[in-house]
Amino acid sequence: MAARPAQELTMKIAIAGAGLAGLAAAWVLAEEGHDVDVFEARRMLGGRAASYEVRTPPAAEAGDAPGQAPPERVDNSQHILMRCCTNLLDFLERTGKSHLVRFYDHFHFIEPGGRRGTLKPGRLPAPLHFAGSFLGLRFLSARDKIAIARGMEAVRREWARGRELDAVTMAEWLRAHGQSDQAVRRFWEPILISAMNERLETISAWHGVGVLYLGFANGRHDYEMGVPTVLLGDLFDGDVWEKHPRIRIHRGAAVEAFETDGGLMTAFRASGQRVAADAFVSALPYERLSPLFPELGLRIDGFRHSPIAGIHLRFDRPVTDLPHAALLDRTLHWYFSRDGGRALSLVVSAAHSLALMKREDIVALAVAELGEFEPRVREATLLSAHVIRETRATFVASPGFESQRPGARTVYSNFFLAGEWTNTGWPSTMEGAVISGYRAAEGILSGKGVGREFVRGRAPLSGR
Ligand SMILES: Cc1cc2nc3c(=O)[nH]c(=O)nc-3n(C[C@H](O)[C@H](O)[C@H](O)COP(=O)(O)OP(=O)(O)OC[C@H]3O[C@@H](n4cnc5c(N)ncnc54)[C@H](O)[C@@H]3O)c2cc1C
Repeated sequence: MAARPAQELTMKIAIAGAGLAGLAAAWVLAEEGHDVDVFEARRMLGGRAASYEVRTPPAAEAGDAPGQAPPERVDNSQHILMRCCTNLLDFLERTGKSHLVRFYDHFHFIEPGGRRGTLKPGRLPAPLHFAGSFLGLRFLSARDKIAIARGMEAVRREWARGRELDAVTMAEWLRAHGQSDQAVRRFWEPILISAMNERLETISAWHGVGVLYLGFANGRHDYEMGVPTVLLGDLFDGDVWEKHPRIRIHRGAAVEAFETDGGLMTAFRASGQRVAADAFVSALPYERLSPLFPELGLRIDGFRHSPIAGIHLRFDRPVTDLPHAALLDRTLHWYFSRDGGRALSLVVSAAHSLALMKREDIVALAVAELGEFEPRVREATLLSAHVIRETRATFVASPGFESQRPGARTVYSNFFLAGEWTNTGWPSTMEGAVISGYRAAEGILSGKGVGREFVRGRAPLSGR
């Protein structure tokens, strides 16, 4: 822990919201020797990076899984990160949890019918490190491979154009760079829909090109995929918070109002209590903050959410030998396996088509599609099935959205904004959330004349 600054600099800081943004701000401010109170409406920490206890309903009601299984804890949906998420990794390091993420340097793809392909690094330096395995992928034609290689070269060239790319969607950009429908569906979509959680016809090319550049055209290891080895609740919640001598977590304490006096914030109201402090952070989602604090004048008219569905299936036997795979040409996008291939977390990004479907129909669809990729599913018995649909999973980074994201500073000199929706240079990710928390902390310290930089590394969006 950093040395405590002089006593006169110790501040009392109040933070609204204990998602990753609020937690990241709290941790670094406490490390700097300040007293931090975090007010969280729910009983659990981690916000949208959440684990829930779920029960399989009796078979007669559910129609989705035979028998009655004991309660299970599952993540809302598998969360993944990349090696280039330097701030999230820094936060995990600070909180002693970085060993709970396992990195993979292989990406597996499966076609309906079960044929597999693997993208893995070879001996050539970046950005050619995938050349060997890429040429061997059988689910892409030779013509598509040439077009994709040219597309990746264009990513490297055009990344620096930054803001100019915000005028077009990623789908338009790919078409303009000669990508066929099959190349889009089988190569660009599996990467980008998962990273951006929205259709390529909707997302800005600034974001799409940025994510590709940072992950695949920059450093040799940046693309590596990190998968937590524990549930999100164990990664982001737990004793480490309650035991910290300078952090007090207030669970089930919703912030209800903000008090200001001239250019200063003076207090929050949380669960009926008035909370005065020297400095404040809102790490609330924009749709919560805006109605609570209309005087702030947030311009969120163009802000929208995109849904993610997590489908958690447990079988009586192993159904795969892979840790994860991208699934081509179907509703399901990825699976992540645990327990020796018996438990699979399926992810459907931009899950608009599942919004109105019945739970049991989603489970039936998932099992049927999974059987096309992993034939052992057809012989296995489904022991439990849970569907978690998060309708407000991530913001939609459409063209023009970027210019509307506010920075950390507000008109109140001691009140700062955090949350992945603020101006972080990242899409709606855990990395963006941590950066926003660090920025709010930097703002608070700089207001007291203390220059500290917590944010490290590059962001996908150049030239902002
Ligand atoms: C299903 C799903 C899958 C995802 N997959 C990935 C992934 O693979 N990789 C990735 O990087 N990102 C992923 N994300 C996105 C990532 O989880 C979010 O971008 C990030 O967690 C947002 O953090 P945040 O702190 O900005 O906001 P939030 O997590 O929304 O935190 C805000 C907090 O404020 C609390 N709150 C709300 N109102 C009040 C109030 N009045 N008073 C006090 N507290 C309040 C909320 O309960 C919440 O805890 C996924 C998100 C979802 C939902």
